[in-house]
Amino acid sequence: MKLLTRIAQHAERKPEHIAYRTEDQVLTYGMLWDKSRRLASLLHAIQLERQTPIVVYGHMATDMPVAFLSCVQAGYPYIPVDTSIPMERVRLIVEKSGAGLVINTTDSKLDFDSVAVLHMLNLELEQEELIGDEYWVHLEEVFYTIYTSGSTGNPKGVQITAANLQSFTDWMTGDFPLDEGKVFLNQAPFSFDLSVMDFYPALQSGGTIHALEKDVSNKPKLLFENLSRSALQVWTSTPSFVQMCFPNPDFNDKMLPELEVFLFCGEVLPLAVAKELKARFPKARIFNTYGPTEATVAVTSIEITEELLAKEKALPVGYPKSDMRIFVVDELDNPLPEGEKGELILAGPSVSKGYLGEPLLTENAFGMINGMNAYRTGDAGIIQDGLVYCQGRMDFQIKLHGYRMELEEIEFHLNQSDFIKAAIIIPYAPNEEIEYLIAAVVPADHDFDKEYKLTAAIRKDLALRLPAYMIPRKFSYHTSIPMTINGKADRKKMKEEVFA
Ligand code: AMP
Repeated sequence: MKLLTRIAQHAERKPEHIAYRTEDQVLTYGMLWDKSRRLASLLHAIQLERQTPIVVYGHMATDMPVAFLSCVQAGYPYIPVDTSIPMERVRLIVEKSGAGLVINTTDSKLDFDSVAVLHMLNLELEQEELIGDEYWVHLEEVFYTIYTSGSTGNPKGVQITAANLQSFTDWMTGDFPLDEGKVFLNQAPFSFDLSVMDFYPALQSGGTIHALEKDVSNKPKLLFENLSRSALQVWTSTPSFVQMCFPNPDFNDKMLPELEVFLFCGEVLPLAVAKELKARFPKARIFNTYGPTEATVAVTSIEITEELLAKEKALPVGYPKSDMRIFVVDELDNPLPEGEKGELILAGPSVSKGYLGEPLLTENAFGMINGMNAYRTGDAGIIQDGLVYCQGRMDFQIKLHGYRMELEEIEFHLNQSDFIKAAIIIPYAPNEEIEYLIAAVVPADHDFDKEYKLTAAIRKDLALRLPAYMIPRKFSYHTSIPMTINGKADRKKMKEEVFA
């Protein structure tokens, strides 16, 4: 595979060049390739069946990239699982994925009934006999699987093949101004596919990944000190993250004088954010990109120029990458003419082959169009003069501060709580963006004398099953959930009650 071959070449030609760094660790190309090759040989020796997934657990330590590359060199897809994911959900992912091994890159102890855990810390990698490139994941095999929120209460694993990833990485390094050897920001944890947007393009082009661990990005003082020292050239993040930097007036081209490119993906890029960035970084180029995890990070892009900012009320998400086709269809799947609003369908070589172990979910969302894998996004949009515009969702999937989630998944877990009879989630969105979630709850009988105690108990329950970013900020208590005439929860009426 070209991507892996390139990494091997960089390791040979410039072994001392930094491939990946965090606040206190560095990993050169030489170290990355050498360590990952040895670990790949060790994984090979375990003799799992080819293509058995391996869960890689951790945050952003240098062992994470090493573990990823070792899995794929031995022919196994990896499943990145961040430490922010609650243990009950981690167990679910390990079980549901049929993982053959968990690689733990943290210093906490992990135990699973059915699967062995390999602790990377203190692992002595002997001078094993190294395996050859014939074991590398083949183009049509799965390279990684990323779990996203699912409406049935369980996360779903999106399988990305080596061919999907190669198509994406070639597009990034070919169509964007990303020359060899740039310094890329990595803001997103590896369990979100936004991290793929900087990670593999940087490695393919011999660049350096500057990873922002959550202990740094959560604390403004540390964050800005870190950025000031970063010499970043390519910024990759959600719009929410860059917006979080705006309260600091020093966040500008003096803090990041080398910054050339902003790459955004994952949620709406508000016009105001793009304008603010242009003012603070007049020399940098800004790109909006769009895509779901199911189509390997992003499939459209557009440079946000002054002319575009002057012309558009809501920014377009861009033109499809050249090997992708994007269609707009009505409820009966009939293609719609230009300018008419419908559901966006993506077809082409970066579309996944489906959800791991979920044939029904896969059948509902994926199909074939003209011999290409196709994915039904659930995004509403239009195409005008070849430009794609996203106009919200057709379902209950939302983005909150850049995180993708299904309201039904949160509702499923709320309804599991002994303290709750029924619940629905109301997103609070005073303007274009969702600011936080409110749980409208019909409580079960309980002994709490105060509402806040009940809320604390429900939160504690939820924290066992859901990542912190999916837990509603506010709780509002009611005697019943209003129903529509056809017996569905009446979300509109509920919202009116919540805000009454
Ligand atoms: P994820 O799988 O986490 O990348 O989330 C994918 C979803 O995020 C898409 O289906 C869209 O709903 C939304 N999304 C991604 N990029 C953009 C964008 N540039 N503008 C608007 N929505 C976006």
